[in-house]
Amino acid sequence: MANCCKNEPVVFVPYSKKHYCEKHFLLMFDKRFRKTVREFKMLKKGERVAVGLSGGKDSCALLHSLKNLNLPIEIIAVTIDEGIEGYRNKTLETAKNECKKLGIEQKIYQFKKEKGQTLDEIMEKKGDIPCSHCGVIRRYLLNKAARDIDADKLALGHNIDDIAQTVIMNIMRNEPSRLARFNTPLITSSKFVERIRPFTRTPEKEIAIYCLLKEIDIDRVDCPYARFAFRANVRSMLNSMEEKYPGTKHKILNSFLEIEDALVSKYSKNAKIGYCKYCGEPTSKEICKFCLID
Ligand code: SF4
Ligand code: ZN
Repeated sequence: MANCCKNEPVVFVPYSKKHYCEKHFLLMFDKRFRKTVREFKMLKKGERVAVGLSGGKDSCALLHSLKNLNLPIEIIAVTIDEGIEGYRNKTLETAKNECKKLGIEQKIYQFKKEKGQTLDEIMEKKGDIPCSHCGVIRRYLLNKAARDIDADKLALGHNIDDIAQTVIMNIMRNEPSRLARFNTPLITSSKFVERIRPFTRTPEKEIAIYCLLKEIDIDRVDCPYARFAFRANVRSMLNSMEEKYPGTKHKILNSFLEIEDALVSKYSKNAKIGYCKYCGEPTSKEICKFCLID
């Protein structure tokens, strides 16, 4: 076990077996953020970046970290309001406050306005797989919103926990083609705004600590539908593996990055680009998944 310096340690990072004081933890966090942006060549000077801002800890920390980069880029926050009673209204407030604090413009897109119904209304009718409907509509609206504001990139707050979960979920469901398009769309279209995930190498716990130390005021409220998700089970399984074997999530991420090119090349061979006959958005089918949700 090593200490960063002689100051009182406030955080222990198990996978590197290191204790950090507040100052050195924040320095390490920012340094890794910059390094990840450079490693994956995520941003260029002069770009316009749409940030998916839900008002949760990950997206709020992302907004702060991008602003702190001091790069000559333009940042605009995009918030999707799914219409989840008792949850989204609270995080919407946080999102608005953070934008005000940082002087960042915010655009809000609502399921109700864009899809004609809130997620709660969709669930009343369908009563199944909330996250799957929610994910399809949210991804569609985030891309549309980013395009509407002429963004060059769409930055998402996904962290290493989210990515490790996605990798394992796709393997457990035997869906390697979905894994192939996680980072890279298999069909190319100028209608897709490139997505970037600057927290790719940052653990969720460290984002929570960052928010605490930076006094980012996060409402600790969970989506009422989260417990139905397959992801919730994979999440707790990976957390217990990480506790027993620190570094597990990093190893899953690195394995995915190792095989990603091979997956993309295998599954992009037969991927066909088409445009949805109802909304005109790119899809490999006749009708896109967004329009299939009624
Ligand atoms: Fe949507 Fe599921 Fe996330 Fe709730 S937990 S916001 S339903 S994806
Ligand atoms: Zn469509």
